[in-house]
Amino acid sequence: MIPVVLQQSFTGTVPVLAPSGVVIQVQSTALSALAVEITGCRRCPRLISHIENIARTKRRAYMDWPYWGKPVPGFGDPAARLLVVGLAPAAHGANRTGRMFTGDASGDWLMRALFRAGFANQPYSTHAGDGLTLTDAYITAVCRCAPPENRPTAEEIANCSDYLRRELDILKTVAVIICLGQVAYNNMLRLMRNRGYGWPVPVSDDGAGSGSSGKRRKPPFRHGAEYRWIGGEDRDTAAGESYPAPVLLASYHPSRQNTNTGVLTEEMFDAVFRRARMYLSALPSRTANHVHAPSRSGKSISQGPSTYTVGSRNAKSR
Ligand code: SF4
Repeated sequence: MIPVVLQQSFTGTVPVLAPSGVVIQVQSTALSALAVEITGCRRCPRLISHIENIARTKRRAYMDWPYWGKPVPGFGDPAARLLVVGLAPAAHGANRTGRMFTGDASGDWLMRALFRAGFANQPYSTHAGDGLTLTDAYITAVCRCAPPENRPTAEEIANCSDYLRRELDILKTVAVIICLGQVAYNNMLRLMRNRGYGWPVPVSDDGAGSGSSGKRRKPPFRHGAEYRWIGGEDRDTAAGESYPAPVLLASYHPSRQNTNTGVLTEEMFDAVFRRARMYLSALPSRTANHVHAPSRSGKSISQGPSTYTVGSRNAKSR
């Protein structure tokens, strides 16, 4: 049986027949275009060869499964205020199912946490047609191809980082970013520095005495750390629009290595997502039909249906 791959839609259902015969319901407009581009990417020969080889050889338990075997785009609510950033697809998880954090134990860990925090409609993520819907959350990764030994090279991460940057540009309403693991954390800090933000400071730091962003030190990765960017109300985009800088929450990755050893417990993981919910709850709630985000001109930007009002010191509540 050919599985139907369903991802959430931005402005409506957009069924696409992929070359494998799998029907993909993709997000419309910019996110769908990016998803198509990512899926067809072949910038990293080592990774492409690896994921195609896995898709051919498979794992015994999934011999009947038509492996995805291609780069995996992000998925979720196009109007998300929460962005979850992982490392990369798992060889027999997302590389098999075609959806991030889907079809393996890490995905179930993540989905249980998202479900309990009210971001997912179900506590499991087994295959792309399993009925999962994310609300106010979007899941992505720093590397879109499953790497050997779960270790992409620095060059491969650099190759893929442009996709994360563009996702962040499109997901203008993101206010909280959860980085799963140190690689995701380091790359999100690098991405924000490339945008001119400098290093972030602990949320509890009022910024006094921190000096210019260039003099701050890189904040350490630790589970449960919470950071913000001083003076980061303006997130520059190619369109010259401005948005609030997000809060960054660091978490251990829900890999088997961490969860089986007790390095990461469900209680610890849930606590991070509860904090994300707390930060978002302090923002204006979602309103009907349109996103209103501030631009440099002070005008609101309408981004589509079923979204909400951006919380920002610059934004006008509506
Ligand atoms: S890791 Fe990213 S840049 Fe490299 S081939 Fe995969 S999608 Fe392309």
